[in-house]
Amino acid sequence: MTPARIVAALLGSTHAPELTGAMCSRCHHWTAAPVPVRYVERVSGPGVTLYACPSHAVAMIPGPMPGELERDA
Ligand SMILES: [Zn+2]
Repeated sequence: MTPARIVAALLGSTHAPELTGAMCSRCHHWTAAPVPVRYVERVSGPGVTLYACPSHAVAMIPGPMPGELERDA
């Protein structure tokens, strides 16, 4: 349980606490410690960052992240 959830539970907040973490792109399980492994560009709109859990991130070859493929003019 994250500190934000503990505080929300103690205060009796009716608002759902903010989820932290991301889904692993390999095992599709939720991880509280996501590691960015790939950035997928889209034709329209912002790109999407794919995450992996720490145990799968070490086995995945990191893809290009925003700015890595840009060349200096
Ligand atoms: Zn995983």
